[in-house]
Amino acid sequence: MTKFVFVTGGVVSGLGKGITASSLALLLKSRGYKVFMQKFDPYINVDPGTMSPFQHGEVFVTADGTETDLDLGHYERFIDEELNYTSNITTGKIYSSVIEKERRGDYLGATVQIVPHITNEIKNKVYEAGTSSNADIVITEIGGTIGDIESQAFIEALRQLRNELGKENTLFVHTTLVPYIYGSNELKTKPTQHSVIELRGMGIQPDIIVCRTPVVLEDSIKSKISLFCSIPKENVIDSIDVTNIYQIPINYYNQKMDELVLNQFGLDIRKSNLSDWENLVNTVNNLDKEIEISLVGKYVELHDAYISVVESLKHAGYFYKTKININWVDSEQLETDINLNEVFKNSKGIIVPGGFGNRGIEGKIKAIEYARCNKIPYLGLCLGLQLAVIEFARNVCGITDASSKEFNELCLNPVIDLMANQKSVINMGGTLRLGNFECHIKKNTLAYKCYNEEFILERHRHRYEVNNKYRDILQEKGLVFSGINDKTDLVEMIEYPNHPFFIACQFHPEFKSRPTRPHPLFKAFIKASIDSKRK
Ligand code: GLN
Repeated sequence: MTKFVFVTGGVVSGLGKGITASSLALLLKSRGYKVFMQKFDPYINVDPGTMSPFQHGEVFVTADGTETDLDLGHYERFIDEELNYTSNITTGKIYSSVIEKERRGDYLGATVQIVPHITNEIKNKVYEAGTSSNADIVITEIGGTIGDIESQAFIEALRQLRNELGKENTLFVHTTLVPYIYGSNELKTKPTQHSVIELRGMGIQPDIIVCRTPVVLEDSIKSKISLFCSIPKENVIDSIDVTNIYQIPINYYNQKMDELVLNQFGLDIRKSNLSDWENLVNTVNNLDKEIEISLVGKYVELHDAYISVVESLKHAGYFYKTKININWVDSEQLETDINLNEVFKNSKGIIVPGGFGNRGIEGKIKAIEYARCNKIPYLGLCLGLQLAVIEFARNVCGITDASSKEFNELCLNPVIDLMANQKSVINMGGTLRLGNFECHIKKNTLAYKCYNEEFILERHRHRYEVNNKYRDILQEKGLVFSGINDKTDLVEMIEYPNHPFFIACQFHPEFKSRPTRPHPLFKAFIKASIDSKRK
């Protein structure tokens, strides 16, 4: 039978609940248990796909094409398991499903209510994560902070689950803040006490309390939390601020957090194998080179909007023992008469990641032209491919008005366009080309050199595609279509051979990079940037 861990958050948001959940999952996996992860997001959107990145940060896409919260990116990077549609559940999903059942007549005769109908639906989603993954342990993170109106139904469902399954099958981890007060120079436990009182008021007694703190918790502080919150002192774990997030699982391991969980579940404390992870932490703490990469985007004020891209760059950097410094470039600023030589002066590579809508587009195109003409390594992701095609069409093929139908409906030379199956789409939510598609890589190309494979699977999230009508002219002028989806004949990868490293993909490789296994495209891009002759 699957065991369930629930991770809640108290006091403030942004404590790193997702990293705590992922770290615990990693520790349990490294003891040979099959783990699976899930996140509840209490907002009413069915998924984050329709939200602005400024609201929500990146939308992470799973292999099965579910648009999810960015925490799922952390989960996949830490536990290296593919998650799916059962892994991210929102209030919107729960209510849609209950209302659909009500209309179908599934509850005939009943008044449909939050308890039991909504809470039952939530409980079913927890069970479904267990049965569909066949995991020994499912870890579910509850978004938001205890006390939020929005998450109450979720908390109530979890209370019921504990009541039904008992302490031997369910475990509550509550993450809180223990702030340090300068002046009196002491740590304060009161916010933790209040947050646990709030949780208890909803019928849940935590089993483990993880305290985010700037300094290690002294014994006396742990005793105080233990006394006021009615948990053994060993179950108070400190989560000290770190500069390298990969250190966190090791910190929890040293405090035996995974053993506490396994003991409560009556599962064997199998031998732990964390050597890969320890090597990673060691590598990250001992990088001996550094390079600057320019990331040109329009959501650059919120770095979380590009979190998987940044992590992927770092992973590739780890492989070459190189620290990656990101030069965040606001694409709209490139549309002014700013000096590009100044902007990119220290950069060894330029990356244009995904994006939607036409704000900042011309600035990105200028950055791509700059990379192409100055032979600076370039990696384009999704929109970064579409814009590279537009740039090439305009500046090399002489199609000066080339554009995408996304930016200009009336464009006469739409080198990027909607395919027939997208033209009939009315609803915006969940209707992009999403999830895994196969890409056939041409031999003797840079793409093939990167992957060393003929067929690859990569995750997508876009509506527009390269317009096949323009393939001949682009090809004649030297653009290479190095990756194609055979079934649909859609362009998946392009490259420009007359350049040290110029490649772009229609998919999002950043979702598949792992800290101990950098993605081939990022790895090759970072290698080319390190080797770049550019001063
Ligand atoms: N806006 C473009 C499209 O929908 C690119 C999307 C992206 O970069 N993820 O096709």
